[in-house]
Amino acid sequence: MDMYYEVHSENIAARGHAPQVAELLTRFALHTREDGLVSHESFTSDVFAAFGEELMVLAPTADGDYRWTHYGREIVRYAGGTRLGETVSGMRPQVARFTIDCLTQTLAENRPLYTIHRSSSTVRVALWERLLLPTTDRAGGRHVVAFSRPLRFREDLLDAVLETSPSGIVALRALRDEAGCIEQVVIVTANQRASELCGRPDIDLLDTDARESLPFFADAAIWRRCRHAVDLQRADTIETSITRNGGTSWLRIAVAPISDGLLLTLTDITDLTIANQTLQLRAATLALEIGRERATRRALSEEIGQREERERELRRLAETDPLTALLNRRSFTEKANADIARVTAAGGDIALIIVDLDHFKQVNDTHGHPAGDAVIRAFADLLLGLFRGESNLVGRFGGEEFAILLQDCDLGSASAEARRIQEALAARALPVSETLALKVTASFGVAMRLPREGLPCLMARADQALYRAKSEGRNRLGIAGPDAAAAA
Ligand code: GH3
Ligand code: MG
Ligand code: MG
Repeated sequence: MDMYYEVHSENIAARGHAPQVAELLTRFALHTREDGLVSHESFTSDVFAAFGEELMVLAPTADGDYRWTHYGREIVRYAGGTRLGETVSGMRPQVARFTIDCLTQTLAENRPLYTIHRSSSTVRVALWERLLLPTTDRAGGRHVVAFSRPLRFREDLLDAVLETSPSGIVALRALRDEAGCIEQVVIVTANQRASELCGRPDIDLLDTDARESLPFFADAAIWRRCRHAVDLQRADTIETSITRNGGTSWLRIAVAPISDGLLLTLTDITDLTIANQTLQLRAATLALEIGRERATRRALSEEIGQREERERELRRLAETDPLTALLNRRSFTEKANADIARVTAAGGDIALIIVDLDHFKQVNDTHGHPAGDAVIRAFADLLLGLFRGESNLVGRFGGEEFAILLQDCDLGSASAEARRIQEALAARALPVSETLALKVTASFGVAMRLPREGLPCLMARADQALYRAKSEGRNRLGIAGPDAAAAA
């Protein structure tokens, strides 16, 4: 049984809360007969005049139950109805079992019993005290005269809870018209905190019309939700703000339906709401700053990208010959030196071809300088087409003179490559304009790098071989011998 209860057969006078308990006990003792039993007739005729309205009388039935034979008017008032003529087993099971046990005990032991138990079936949750007094009538029938009433201190406790609660508490009762529609809502309980939270600390809300006394009911939406809570018997939670004296405060209203009304619990959530709003504002500001920061970073990285692109372009321009886009002499020399250093470390052959177009002066003289430029460009394209490979360098040394550095290439292979150029020139004319193409020839100096030989020496030997090709009639290869001294 999880219902709270106490059963006492000792020290009853001291335990009783109502003064009637001690008084009834004293009178009870006075009516003890010689056989030790208490006379029902004489005891009841003594106490009924003074206490009858607060007493009930129960008699055992044949089947172990008890039936009310008297039910005082005061008890009707507390309990909300009479049980006269009913049996105890008709009460809620827990209370019925407890009551039958106590009645049986008081009769069996033939002495008064004092009990306390909790009943939550009445309007208020309350503890009840009972004094059970076993009597016997003239015919030998047994009876229990019982004094029963709710303990007063529970109401004191409720008052204390209400007045010390940090929440505002308001109980509302709905008054309905004949059609059953809510006509008015009256405040039946309200604590001081509720008055404060409603901005009316000096006003007693009790018994007033809730729609006039509670400021948040001016909001039609809140009123509608509360009406639904009553009609549907459903709890709700509402947050709202109240503005007064220029300041705004926030309320959370917990709405709980009670029989035909509502219990409102009001909590001041102003600090919470302001903290929340501040946080949201800060989050929004942060999001904005992050957005700005991102935009700045994006602009910056675009700027950096553009600058890098410009630098790459400048570097390319510095390295290349503007007419042909081949490496210029300076960058060809740099890269060739780097290649030679790498090959020296790794081992491997390097060969150099120097090409000079034959009788180029005549091209200029016959067709004009721009036509000469076009021939130079077309010849550069031809070289690029043949030697675009990663490991080869193709450069323009100035005028109509070009150089090609070939990696992993011996003298024989380099000569073959030079011949490929010669054959390409022989096979087709170089385009000058839409209507003009010119056949040109070239002379070649081919040299393979000797062990530990530097670029200047290699170039000198290739130049020497080129000179020989020119002097031997042009449109031919000059192959450099291994003799470096001969080149000098
Ligand atoms: P060869 O080499 O067969 O001995 O005869 P060549 O006529 O080619 O001899 P040379 O090297 O003396 O003449 C080169 C000419 O190329 C001189 C110059 O007018 C011309 N030239 C040099 N650079 C350019 C250029 O950038 N564009 C044009 N159109 N002509 C150039
Ligand atoms: Mg020439
Ligand atoms: Mg020349």
